[in-house]
Amino acid sequence: MWWHSTNYLKQDGPTKGMLAHRRYSLYETPRLMLRCRLFGHKPVVDGHGPIGEALSAARWVVCDRCGVRPDPQGSLDPERYAIGEPYTGRLDNVVFITEFRESGGHRRPPGPWPVKPTGDMHAEVVVGQTWGVFSAELKVGNCGSDNKIGAHLRMWPIGAIYLGFGSHGTWLQRRLNPDGYESRVISLNVGEWRIGWKLWARRDAWSAGEPRWMQGFISLDLAQKLFGPKRYSYKPVEGPTYQWVRLNHGELHQVQLKLHKQRLGRPRLEWRAKYSWTVEWKADAPIPVGDGKTLSNGWVDVPEVSVENGMWDLTAAARAAHQINERRDRSDYRRQA
Ligand SMILES: [Zn+2]
Repeated sequence: MWWHSTNYLKQDGPTKGMLAHRRYSLYETPRLMLRCRLFGHKPVVDGHGPIGEALSAARWVVCDRCGVRPDPQGSLDPERYAIGEPYTGRLDNVVFITEFRESGGHRRPPGPWPVKPTGDMHAEVVVGQTWGVFSAELKVGNCGSDNKIGAHLRMWPIGAIYLGFGSHGTWLQRRLNPDGYESRVISLNVGEWRIGWKLWARRDAWSAGEPRWMQGFISLDLAQKLFGPKRYSYKPVEGPTYQWVRLNHGELHQVQLKLHKQRLGRPRLEWRAKYSWTVEWKADAPIPVGDGKTLSNGWVDVPEVSVENGMWDLTAAARAAHQINERRDRSDYRRQA
């Protein structure tokens, strides 16, 4: 067992409002697994998949109780071994079992249990101003996580503490989140004018099918509540009208053009809204742009002056041509002879 600490303020120079920023690491600390030490490990098959058509799957051996894996963990045949079933094979990595020979080297038997399983632990501490307002999080990792259990607490302007328990939390991870490669998170986050939460939500993903209570946020932004969220909106003003779009080599396409007034701002805050002009173009027939793709419509901005002097359709046609040529340049388009 050994330890190491890093002083970030000394290493990277002082940061405004921060009094201390250090990381402490404790390496190769013995794993707590009293029962396994007394009675021996309990080998079971672990792994993931198959997933979808590609049938990506893997199986290895793990101790069901403490989560320690033999070294090497082995690579078993997913068709013969189901996740969770007891592993009764030998654990010495040298027996020449037919199964492993048959696989042509794709499968490997697991090796012996590590004699002294250890794990690493980390803590990062910030004293002083950090960012956000408040954040608390508990993470339960997956079978591929470096940190099986992680946690942090951050409070402005007091500081923050981040903890990672390495492989020490394997027992808990195997009980709470045994399947797949997605970590689960319970968190509360206050900052950027909102309160956000996650309740056993996947850490890096969100899908429409998820229950609403799992993750979400409440906006504290008064401007948003009173005047609505800042967004773009469009109002048709003129058109449709028709123009020719002239591409490189004199290639011509007819397009339909519609002039729109674009507004950027909060719905109920008129004096802060920004207006500009934009034109929607629609080609009569799809225009090839290379790589087997076509373009049949798009949007181009036009300046106020073009609208004032009634030339917006010509400007828009020229800009649409530029847009199409640029797309063709990007895909290295070659015109058919
Ligand atoms: Zn064990």
